[in-house]
Amino acid sequence: MALTFDDGPHPEWTPRILDALAARGAHATFFVIGERAVRHRALVQRLAAEGHAVGHHSWTHSQPSTTSARVLLEETRRTRLLLEEITGRPAPLFRPPHGTLSAAKLLGVWWQQNTVVLWNKDPRDFRLPDADALVGWMKAHPLESGDIMLLHDVHQHTADALKRILAVTKLRCNAIGVQ
Ligand SMILES: [Zn+2]
Repeated sequence: MALTFDDGPHPEWTPRILDALAARGAHATFFVIGERAVRHRALVQRLAAEGHAVGHHSWTHSQPSTTSARVLLEETRRTRLLLEEITGRPAPLFRPPHGTLSAAKLLGVWWQQNTVVLWNKDPRDFRLPDADALVGWMKAHPLESGDIMLLHDVHQHTADALKRILAVTKLRCNAIGVQ
């Protein structure tokens, strides 16, 4: 199964999440926002250095409904290039903001040779009040092999819950597409 963390990197909570993953020998996939990555380059380097997959999630987290295909494709191009420059590795994984793409945008991101990664488990962690609520959701919806879970590394409660989430799953937690 794969844990994915969107919307970072965050200077406080991303390092806490990395520490929790390292303590369990677990790897994850981070879909970072370009304008945050450019401010926290060392964190992006740390993601790659510790064996996590680093994907892109647009430059500004632009709203799909008000963003043209041309603007989105410029954001994906710019963010992917930045990540490749920082990590020295190809960064083809792309998660669209809010998981939505029009047909024109989908064609464009394929044309740019990106791989679109969505998810099948979503606790909506950003709406939960605290770590207990997130751990409770995980217990009610146990992870299964092949699951791709959506989380966000920009919330303290997600960072707080991660150690406990990793403690209750017996599955291996792998980075997407990283050998
Ligand atoms: Zn997002």
